[in-house]
Amino acid sequence: LQREMRRQERLASLGRLVAGVAHEIRNPLTAINCYLQLWQKSGRFPEKPLNTMREEINRLDNLVEKLLCLAKPAEVKKVPYEVNRLVRDSLRFFEEVVGIRIETDFASDLPEVPLDPEQMGRVLQNLFFNACEAMAGGGVLTVRTYKAGDGRHAVIEVADTGCGIPPEHLKEIFEPFFTTKPQGTGLGLSLAKEVVEAHGGRIEVESELGKGTTMRIYLPLREVSVGGEARLGG
Ligand code: ADP
Ligand code: MG
Repeated sequence: LQREMRRQERLASLGRLVAGVAHEIRNPLTAINCYLQLWQKSGRFPEKPLNTMREEINRLDNLVEKLLCLAKPAEVKKVPYEVNRLVRDSLRFFEEVVGIRIETDFASDLPEVPLDPEQMGRVLQNLFFNACEAMAGGGVLTVRTYKAGDGRHAVIEVADTGCGIPPEHLKEIFEPFFTTKPQGTGLGLSLAKEVVEAHGGRIEVESELGKGTTMRIYLPLREVSVGGEARLGG
């Protein structure tokens, strides 16, 4: 019975996923189709719609790229890696963001942790990106690393002073295609969760509306074997 329930749940979430994809694909296609029809009628090819069409096509292309990652998550290739270095390197691109002040507090007692630097780097950048987007009017991005109370995990904490997340959204933000942004894909956090879980870790969120959001990534200090559960469709 448990298995059947899990299967039903998976089917339901697959259904939501497909509906989400269909929607994401239809919007740009509709826009492109409209422009083509206009041109056919008028026989003119103005510059602006051309650019819009290119943007929409890029969006579709990005979406397909992310879908492929989601459908077949790249294998995580873990190597012993310094967490602080990973964080520092991933932050580099964000130092230029106007209106955002970055504060860091790196633990000095963290051993090297088994992780995939490329994939975990992307996860962190997704979190930093979200933080910056939540602080459109400026703010502080605070990034800390420390050893968890259980002594078995390294924690990477990403806190912003942005808009915060309404409590009713908290359950959904890790679902594929959940987004509140007009140009969002809603895939950043679902991919983040996927990758962190493939490391045997977990990701947690704490948020207060109008005050800010804190994301915490827990990574096991030592190698753990990860079952099929953590992988989508596995
Ligand atoms: P996207 O950024 O494309 O919308 P994500 O999966 O990265 O997709 O995030 C999903 C949603 O979670 C966002 O649209 C936003 O509503 C919410 N969210 C994520 N991070 C934050 C944050 N730091 N502050 C406020 N809201 C956030
Ligand atoms: Mg995002």
